[in-house]
Amino acid sequence: MNPANTINSTHIIMGAAAGLLLGGLLTYGLGDQHSVYAPVMYLVNLLASVFIALLKMILVPLVFCAIAVGVAQLSGSANMQATWRTTIVFFASTSFIAVCIGLIGVNLVKPGEGIDPAALQGVALPEAAQNSMQLGDFVSTLLVNTFANPISAMANGNIVAVAVFAIFVGVAIIQQGKQLGQLHTLLEQALALFMHILQWIMRLAPIGIGALLCKLIAGATAALLLSLAKFIMLVIALTLLHGLVVLPFILWLLTKRSPIDLFKKFRLPMITAFSTSSSSATLPVTLHTLENVFAVRPAVAKFVAPLGSQINMDGTAMYEAIAALFVAQLFGIDLTLGQQGIVVVMAMVAAVGAPGIPSAGMVTMVMVLQSVGLPVEAIGLLLPIDRLLDAFRTAVNVEGDIVGSLVVDHLIGPDTIKDEA
Ligand code: ASP
Repeated sequence: MNPANTINSTHIIMGAAAGLLLGGLLTYGLGDQHSVYAPVMYLVNLLASVFIALLKMILVPLVFCAIAVGVAQLSGSANMQATWRTTIVFFASTSFIAVCIGLIGVNLVKPGEGIDPAALQGVALPEAAQNSMQLGDFVSTLLVNTFANPISAMANGNIVAVAVFAIFVGVAIIQQGKQLGQLHTLLEQALALFMHILQWIMRLAPIGIGALLCKLIAGATAALLLSLAKFIMLVIALTLLHGLVVLPFILWLLTKRSPIDLFKKFRLPMITAFSTSSSSATLPVTLHTLENVFAVRPAVAKFVAPLGSQINMDGTAMYEAIAALFVAQLFGIDLTLGQQGIVVVMAMVAAVGAPGIPSAGMVTMVMVLQSVGLPVEAIGLLLPIDRLLDAFRTAVNVEGDIVGSLVVDHLIGPDTIKDEA
């Protein structure tokens, strides 16, 4: 099934509009004393909670398989050591830069500060915010949790340990090669299975988003909405900064290719990514453009772009970091420098773990919030605005794969890589 078909954007917009209208009607039209207010809000709360619960349900198996398969995919190109090393270094450093830009921006603009905590009662559980720890405790707990028993980690939703275990599994599969070929295939099939289930869950997105938006409006104050508008503008501005300035600059620095040339040639995959909100759905267009428009060697394009569509997501990594800090600001939680360091690492891991489908970053967002004791339910604030932000970050995710392919193609000399494609 084409991932682009999993969510119909018209339905999402209709769901969002219905939720907004209902929330507005209930709160400002009928008022909370009206006899229909309580039963309707009960149903709305139920739908929103079930939707969030479904997202949490799929998180553990999805993250485990996506990361294990993503790492193990490197085995297919074991003879291309230089290629994959350059690719991984490029992916990791550009994601790191994106996350840092996000953190600096959100710390400077502070879109979530000064909000009346009462405004949040309806959309999140403030008491969960009390779980933040001192840095020392946090680091030791994190280290112990990081290498937890994988079964208990999965059962308890300890996503960090699940991700680390998945990386170990992926590396072991690479080292064992053909001997573990069946396990590799099995994991790929399991990933396809969980992505299929995620597609079902995302089909409920119009209802889930409608319910969340209704809750948001019903419980919103003007200050909260203003704060969301600031957040939306900040995310879009920083995503554009990364896509239009930082990535083209890195490309120019490493290959001397002009940004204008990039902007002219990358249009088709950018529009596809923006409109599908899916790196995976865009992949055929990305490959076509890399090989036919940019003249990247097919073997490089076929290695870098598919891997990138799964693990290289600068837009997503940046978004997860901005969103986590935004949630902390909303709840008046001061994240220490150490905790922000954790956010950097977790945002990068979360972006690796997010499959290239619409709103996947929202699922892995849970682990970024959990890693520093932020209330997971705050995702209810972010989901209703995710369609718009997802379009921007997916475009930058795909741009990262294109720039990565161009850089690897330039840096890896013609002798190093045999073009079998
Ligand atoms: N939609 C994004 C992508 O496909 C993933 C995300 O939700 O951040 O690249």
